[in-house]
Amino acid sequence: MKDQTEILRLKELCNTELFKEAKDSVQAETNATLRVLYILKEIERRRAFAEKNYPSLYEFCIEYLGYKKGAAYRRIAALKALKDLPEIEDKIKSGRLDLMTLTQAQSYFSQKQRHHEPLAKEQKLEILNTLENKSSRESEEFFLKLSPQEIPQEKLRPINSETFELRIALPKVVQQKIEKLKMLMGANKSHLETIDALNEALDIAIQSYEKKYKASELKVSATKVPALGKILKTHSQYISVHTKRRIWRRDQGQCSFIDPLNNHQCGSRFRLEIDHITPKALGGTNDFTNLRLVCRAHNQFAAIKEFGMQKMERFIN
Ligand SMILES: [Zn+2]
Repeated sequence: MKDQTEILRLKELCNTELFKEAKDSVQAETNATLRVLYILKEIERRRAFAEKNYPSLYEFCIEYLGYKKGAAYRRIAALKALKDLPEIEDKIKSGRLDLMTLTQAQSYFSQKQRHHEPLAKEQKLEILNTLENKSSRESEEFFLKLSPQEIPQEKLRPINSETFELRIALPKVVQQKIEKLKMLMGANKSHLETIDALNEALDIAIQSYEKKYKASELKVSATKVPALGKILKTHSQYISVHTKRRIWRRDQGQCSFIDPLNNHQCGSRFRLEIDHITPKALGGTNDFTNLRLVCRAHNQFAAIKEFGMQKMERFIN
């Protein structure tokens, strides 16, 4: 089996070789994308999709080539942009503009056209220059600024006896808080919905207000584990919540791993775990000074460096 040989070959590579392979393969992927766009362009020019009995290139892409709807749409949007502005070929080739960004740009150009305010070629190119190397989220924000939407009114309506639908416009700062809470809560969970974060935030807020206003009447359960204990995953059960808190504060709630090559601290706040600086297997203790906060990736990386890939593989996967 070819895949199997390839997997074995990759396992033999050192990290430097692996990074080079990754770079080369990403470039090949980008080249392949561009090549697909040119082939689609030629198929469209000849209307060859009609020979296969499809009414448009879009249906051809989905039914005949097997693309999902979104993927087909992105390729056709990128193709339109490329036909209109051949100058952007280099930007696609070098990965500075991706299909997602091109799709967003193209849909903005079409929207302007529909509203009888078509953009000149230079204006389009200027927009695309600005969007180089931007993430989808950043480009989305860019276009929202160009064509601000009306902010909808808050709406709450029952769907059935147990469920309501809430439509609400979130200021960015609130949306960021929700994302941050989801990230902190997500340390032990694979997927979190916005509703989970809202529910948790409401519980905590209600608890806090009740404490404030009804302190005398309220019985606070003494066994309640502080939230931080839940957030921090650790492979050792015997680290007290108090110690976990001290570690969290000392390491400022971020990954403390420092890359020895460039002295750069990872600083990730995602999936944080407690790591033994000297591993337990090598006599390391649960003492505060032997513990540190690291992200899962760096915890696993440290373990692989210490014990070797062969030993760690079955724990990691
Ligand atoms: Zn890290």
